[in-house]
Amino acid sequence: MPSPRTAIVGGGLGGLTLARVLAVHGIEAVLYEADAAPDARPSQGGTLDLHPESGQRALKEAGLTDRFLDAVRPEGQDMKLFDKHGTLLREDTAGADDMDRPEIDRGTLRDILMDSVAPETIRWGKRLTEAAPLPDGRHELRFADGTAETCDLLVGADGAWSRVRPLLTDARPAHSGVNFVELRITDADRTHPAIAELVGRGSLYALGDDKGIMPQRNGDGMIRTYVALRTPEDWLTASGIPFDRPDEARAALLSYFADWSPRLTDLIRHCDDTLLPRPITQLPVGLRWESRPGVTLIGDAAHLMSPFAGAGANLAMLDGAELALTIARHPGDPAAAIAAYEEAMHAYVLPEAETASRHLALMISPDGGRRFLALLEQFDTGR
Ligand SMILES: Cc1cc2nc3c(=O)[nH]c(=O)nc-3n(C[C@H](O)[C@H](O)[C@H](O)COP(=O)(O)OP(=O)(O)OC[C@H]3O[C@@H](n4cnc5c(N)ncnc54)[C@H](O)[C@@H]3O)c2cc1C
Repeated sequence: MPSPRTAIVGGGLGGLTLARVLAVHGIEAVLYEADAAPDARPSQGGTLDLHPESGQRALKEAGLTDRFLDAVRPEGQDMKLFDKHGTLLREDTAGADDMDRPEIDRGTLRDILMDSVAPETIRWGKRLTEAAPLPDGRHELRFADGTAETCDLLVGADGAWSRVRPLLTDARPAHSGVNFVELRITDADRTHPAIAELVGRGSLYALGDDKGIMPQRNGDGMIRTYVALRTPEDWLTASGIPFDRPDEARAALLSYFADWSPRLTDLIRHCDDTLLPRPITQLPVGLRWESRPGVTLIGDAAHLMSPFAGAGANLAMLDGAELALTIARHPGDPAAAIAAYEEAMHAYVLPEAETASRHLALMISPDGGRRFLALLEQFDTGR
């Protein structure tokens, strides 16, 4: 049988992993990405720790482990936990050869994956507006530039607000009850050495009062901070914080942390002028749908969850690898491949989605610091 024409919508970590692992197995696909060019976004996001059973496994299937190991930062696994008064509750330091969950910048990881697929695989500037089922089981893809394509197998790898997902389920992301504001301090060692020393080589969590200040060191010397507040969906606008006027935005954000240690709030006080509001949304935990031939989902399109399990990117990559391997195992029978992939995916995603939901509730709580400490101590004793 001729191989099906496979279309991947979305070139994030999930879509790129899928394209790569398909290519490793000699299966052609076309990836349609909304961004106009590889460098269209000023930043690809923060640092990620790649888990052995998901992100690292996907890279192995992609034949990219060596490139990954050249780029990782094991020291990025260092972690400090503070309460709001600036009391250090716990500090973990990683050894140079600790490869359990080494950190890598998302942009670096994306480059490794992107370099590994043939350039003609990716069509840039192709924003899907609608995917319509055709009577013969194929799909027509309609793009914002007015063009259309057809495919035999359609994979939605287009993230939280997927345009492919409505073909399979009515579920939509809902607000988690937590909003983030993302801050940056560029070249922190030079510009703010005391802050750089406080954060150290990895991540810091300062938790309490239903809030969090959570900086992380990135590979380029930037400190990226997620400020978390348990606030309703409309808070990012209703609060009146003028995110496009940095001095006023910093002052307004600081007012929510008036009784926090100034050592911690310095991360807000001295941040760069880019303050990015980020509502945290999620799909229902345990979301499933009836498998349909010709279309499936991977990554956030399938199982968007809050970042509190540190699992979303890892799972997106695992989905990409898992789907590619399953397609390779079912030559000429994409319907069987989709059903088998979805069965496996739903099973391994469920515990991670439950963890993300539980950790959000625990960490962004009145006593988040102590509760997170207790959780880490439970991990230590294997309970
Ligand atoms: C603040 C924050 C911190 C996080 N930290 C971590 C972490 O530490 N570890 C971890 O594992 N995960 C983390 N995550 C989760 C992780 O970012 C996501 O789970 C992951 O990016 C999902 O990958 P994806 O490929 O499914 O989707 P995305 O990364 O969202 O990629 C989707 C791609 O599709 C494209 N696209 C979108 N719509 C269309 C369209 N209509 N047509 C064509 N293309 C389209 C987009 O441009 C994009 O390139 C974090 C998330 C947030 C918000």
